[in-house]
Amino acid sequence: MSRRRIIAGNWKMNMTPSQAAELCATLKDLVKNDNVDVVYCVPAIDIVPVAEAVKGTNVKVGAENFYIEDKGAYTGEISAPMLKDAGVEYVIIGHSERREYFKEDDAFLNAKVKKAFEAGLTPILCCGESLELREMDAYLDWIRLQIKSDLVGITADQVKTLVIAYEPIWAIGTGKTASADQAQEVCKAIRDCIAEMYDAPTAEAVRIQYGGSMNAGNAAELLSKPDIDGGLIGGAALKPDFGQIVNA
Ligand code: PEP
Repeated sequence: MSRRRIIAGNWKMNMTPSQAAELCATLKDLVKNDNVDVVYCVPAIDIVPVAEAVKGTNVKVGAENFYIEDKGAYTGEISAPMLKDAGVEYVIIGHSERREYFKEDDAFLNAKVKKAFEAGLTPILCCGESLELREMDAYLDWIRLQIKSDLVGITADQVKTLVIAYEPIWAIGTGKTASADQAQEVCKAIRDCIAEMYDAPTAEAVRIQYGGSMNAGNAAELLSKPDIDGGLIGGAALKPDFGQIVNA
C-alpha cells in the first residue's frame, strides 16, 4: 500500500499574525506539490489569518494545542470544536515541549486524542525518547509505552487516519538529526507496535513522520526510508527551506 506523504511545519511560539501571513505568501509557490499533504501547525492567534492566506492552495491548517473540554469556564483555553470551526484539520498532540513544560501526561494526551477525533481533527501524535533513554538502550520500550498509553480506546478505523511523529528529544532544535537508519528503526518499531495493537492493514495505513532538525539537506535521505512517510519540521518550517523539504 502506498501512503501519501505528509510534511507538517510546527511553527511553535513564532510569528505574529502579520508575520504569519507574510510567511504564507513567501512559501506559497515553494510548497506546491500535488503528491504531498502540506500542513502548517501554527499558534492559535495565527489560525484565522493563516487559514485565509492558504485558501485555494494545497496547504492545510494545523493547530499546536487545545483543551479537552468543548467549552466553558477554562480561561485562556481553546477547544477542539473552535479549531474545527476556524478551518483547522490537523492538531499536534504530545509534543515533547508540552509533555515537559506543561506536564501533559499520557492519560491527558489520550483524552486529547479522543477529543480531536470527536471534533473531526486529525491528531499528529508525537512520541520520542530522551538522550538518556537512548543511551540506556531503553528507547524502543519507552516509545511503545507512549503509543500504547496515548491510543487507549482509539479504534482501528481512527488509527488508519492518524499521523504519528517520531521525534527524538535529543534531536529537536539541536541541529543534531537522527541518522536515517536510526529514524527508520524507530518508525518501523512504531508500525510493528500498531500491528500488534490492531492489525496489519491498520499498521500499513498509519502515517509515521520523523521530526528533529530535519532540513533541506537531510530530508531526502530520511524520506527515502520505507517506514518514514513524512516529516514534522520546527526551525526549517519558518524558512524557504520548507519548500525544499516538501519537494524532497
Ligand atoms: C519540532 O519541534 O517538532 C521539531 C522537529 O523541531 P526542529 O525541526 O527545530 O528540530
